[in-house]
Amino acid sequence: MTLAASCPRCSSPVSGDGAQWRCLDHGAITPLWRPATASYEAMAEHLLQCTSIPTLLPWPLSPGWTITDFGCVGHQDGEAKASISSCSGVSDLDGVVELTVVAEEPGVGLGARCAGIDRTDPGAEIGEGPPHVKVRVSGHPISLWSVSTSETSSEFDRSVFAGEAQGRWLWIVLRPASAALLLNDEWILCDANELGPELIELPFGGNPPPW
Ligand SMILES: [Zn+2]
Repeated sequence: MTLAASCPRCSSPVSGDGAQWRCLDHGAITPLWRPATASYEAMAEHLLQCTSIPTLLPWPLSPGWTITDFGCVGHQDGEAKASISSCSGVSDLDGVVELTVVAEEPGVGLGARCAGIDRTDPGAEIGEGPPHVKVRVSGHPISLWSVSTSETSSEFDRSVFAGEAQGRWLWIVLRPASAALLLNDEWILCDANELGPELIELPFGGNPPPW
């Protein structure tokens, strides 16, 4: 067992077991299961648990990039409500870049936490005007809109995009904010569940994002 339970919306301590978990701040929660360190073994365990929701990775991963974190929101015997993956690498323009992808059912709040906004779900900006970018998920183009993070007191250190894919929210968070320029219509997100032998060759490691 390499995955540990935490709160999807904050870093406060959690307690519980089975289908009963509580966060000190949020009360009853559906836990987020994350590894202490990203590894192939932990990913294999994660994918066994996270079968009902895709774990999306940018594909192919750019040379030198590593998968730094991943997780699944759900009770251990139940359906997953959300998935998260983070990877990191170096770009010429921005130095170290962190990319996080969240797929989640409405109301989970994991994407909003990564985005650093107080709301649980994206707001009215989704669907307003033409999309800022499209990415391909399982062969389908998914429209994404920039999510305003100006209401938050946290420093403006990230760019956030969100849209809707297969009835769930899809969030993409890039740090630093200038790394948003890396995002373009050529991007493909693949479901780690659909990777075969390529999964073994994925590079894991590096610093997970600080949420
Ligand atoms: Zn919490």
